Amino acid sequence: MAVPDLQTLLAQGVRGQRVLVRADLNVPLDGDRITDDTRIRASLPTLRELLAAGARVAVVSHLGRPKGKAVPELSLRPVAPRLAELLGQGVSFCPACIGPEAAAAVDALGDGEVVLLENVRFHEGETKNDPDFARALAALVDVYVNDAFGTAHRAHASTAGIAGLVTRVAAGRLLQSELDHLRVVREPERPLMVVLGGAKVSDKLAVLEALAPHADVLAIGGAMSYTFMAAQGLPVGASRLEADRIDDAKAVLAAAESSGRTLLLPTDHVVAEKLEAGVPTRVVREIPDGFMGLDIGPETAERYAAEIARARTFFWNGPRGVFEIPEFAEGTRRVAIAAGETDATTVVGGGDSLAAVNQLGVGDKITHLSTGGGASLEYVQGLVLPGVAALER
Ligand code: ADP
Ligand code: MG
Repeated sequence: MAVPDLQTLLAQGVRGQRVLVRADLNVPLDGDRITDDTRIRASLPTLRELLAAGARVAVVSHLGRPKGKAVPELSLRPVAPRLAELLGQGVSFCPACIGPEAAAAVDALGDGEVVLLENVRFHEGETKNDPDFARALAALVDVYVNDAFGTAHRAHASTAGIAGLVTRVAAGRLLQSELDHLRVVREPERPLMVVLGGAKVSDKLAVLEALAPHADVLAIGGAMSYTFMAAQGLPVGASRLEADRIDDAKAVLAAAESSGRTLLLPTDHVVAEKLEAGVPTRVVREIPDGFMGLDIGPETAERYAAEIARARTFFWNGPRGVFEIPEFAEGTRRVAIAAGETDATTVVGGGDSLAAVNQLGVGDKITHLSTGGGASLEYVQGLVLPGVAALER
């Protein structure tokens, strides 16, 4: 079984066909203003190719969490003009995504024209993967293309249910590119170095468990470091600690050890008494009482950078410290620079990690910046993404 790609679909011809594209247009809004259009831009290649080939394209997406009700502030309407501007052609907006109004909007399209349908999550059936809702979406079109990598780990009606109800399907360019790049983490050229960090062990436990026995070197950083240090009986002062995850951290340490892998923890730390800009900071090996670890120290950063330089494949999720505050950004900066310098295959995922890499100006030196946080973590664990499985033919 394989997932048909857009190339194959286009080669078979789509002129005059009604194509539903599930995109991820879940952009941040400030009122009606789009504050970051990265996701709209990421959806353009698939749309452009389909439109150029004469398809009649209906785009569906979710926006925010309206929880099954029409929430006017979460309407996709403001996205239509921006999409039109970026595509360089008109984009009509339909205030429904199923039913007679949506059907009329789709049927009114000419070849190479596009309509944006309203937020699919205005309907309860979307996140419940309700078969009736999936059928209502499928009834609109002849072809289904899933390009929403960011929601591919969810079995929803517009990401999974619909795919079984439409004969001709394909993965879009963004989805395909994500899968192709993230696959290298599962099937790496070794050594594979993984850098995991960020806010919480609990957010990333599944990926820690999956990658500790898989990665040649797994380097921990960020706030989750202190739960791992506590698991080793080391003092953590007033650092953020998840006491209920200490046993999970012990299990991850044991899994790395029994598979003969290397798991690295920070050995020096940038500490402060308060988490705010301008506070006095110190670099320590042992965290004193009353102090919080807020970044990896320079010795740890050099050690991690040296491992990155040795690796042939590198995967990074989760900042090394509170990079939003300059005093605690150096560890993340050092790792980002090392990732930018190596000629190994480098993949970075996670909202804050991408922000860090871009803020530090090395984004264009990374092989692949994954647009999907949760989806990319599930995929590198080796899990089957429901949105991908549903496309298999
Ligand atoms: P991502 O979005 O890349 O998956 P996370 O959301 O898991 O990353 O974690 C990022 C957050 O973790 C950032 O806001 C950062 O400030 C915070 N963080 C990192 N290190 C620490 C630390 N030592 N103490 C408290 N917060 C931290
Ligand atoms: Mg985050």
